[in-house]
Amino acid sequence: MSLLVVGSVAFDSIETPDGSADRVLGGSASYFSYVASFFTKPRLVGVVGEDFPEQNRHLLEARGVDMTGLTTQPGKTFYWKGRYHQDMNTRDTLEVQLNVFGTFDPVLPESFRDSKHIFLANAAPSVQAKVLDQVTAPSLVVADTMDLWIEIAKPDLLALLPRLDGLSINDSEAKLLTGESNLVRAGHAVRRMGPKFVLLKKGEHGAILFSEEGTFVVPAFPSPDVLDPTGAGDSFAGGVMGYLATRPEVVPGHPEWGTQLRRAMAYGTVIASMTVEGFGLDRLTRTSRQEIDSRLEAYRHMLSL
Ligand code: AMP
Repeated sequence: MSLLVVGSVAFDSIETPDGSADRVLGGSASYFSYVASFFTKPRLVGVVGEDFPEQNRHLLEARGVDMTGLTTQPGKTFYWKGRYHQDMNTRDTLEVQLNVFGTFDPVLPESFRDSKHIFLANAAPSVQAKVLDQVTAPSLVVADTMDLWIEIAKPDLLALLPRLDGLSINDSEAKLLTGESNLVRAGHAVRRMGPKFVLLKKGEHGAILFSEEGTFVVPAFPSPDVLDPTGAGDSFAGGVMGYLATRPEVVPGHPEWGTQLRRAMAYGTVIASMTVEGFGLDRLTRTSRQEIDSRLEAYRHMLSL
């Protein structure tokens, strides 16, 4: 099993209608790797500044995340500040300081280059492409993106899409990328841009898979305790890719691919529902594979007709 994630490692300041958190560990690669660690030992590539506390590094290391690829550079760590609206489904970015992440030029440690499962977490598409250039024989490549890159780096993103097996994208970003106002049309249109499958995330409304095998819908797990939605998308991806990494032979084209991808989406969904029950990574630090599996069982009952 060799699951590689490349993305942001950040300090997040978060305000929601129910509370706030200041400069907690966040970033796309942090959420993704923490979640994936319930399934495998993910390899992380990212950059932090000299202000990054050892205890944050230890938090991920203690989960078995291979941090060989996390480099420290002179300067400050990426900082993101966001505020959620009353509905918790929409947020405003109040502040972004790219700091050392702004000049992030990922160099994969030699020992990471043979990784089979690759998740290109939220980062500039040119950075994501550089990672792909360095892996020798990937068997499953999935990327995430965001509105910022669609707005400022669309040509780079369009060049990346045909190199992907899957793209994880949220509803408003899919509409922005394709110009389609209907979500289903937008999902199909994203797939025509290159990736074999599209994981279209709809926040509290779940996710839709668009793929060669057809369309598949998963509702969100209905949690009554949503405190902070930050990282839900990365957690969803961490659950999907983490689960898939446990069956490395199952890739697009394998007879079990469709079934396993659906199961992976169910894992992603239930873990994302846990992430949002605390600020930052807090809720994830208080769960176990056993609890995740029992929530998956409850979810399965909710879905049976
Ligand atoms: P999510 O809620 O899953 O969309 O992800 C939230 C995470 O994305 C936060 O922890 C932020 O630190 C991180 N983030 C915000 N903006 C960016 C960006 N431009 N590039 C990379 N990561 C970002």
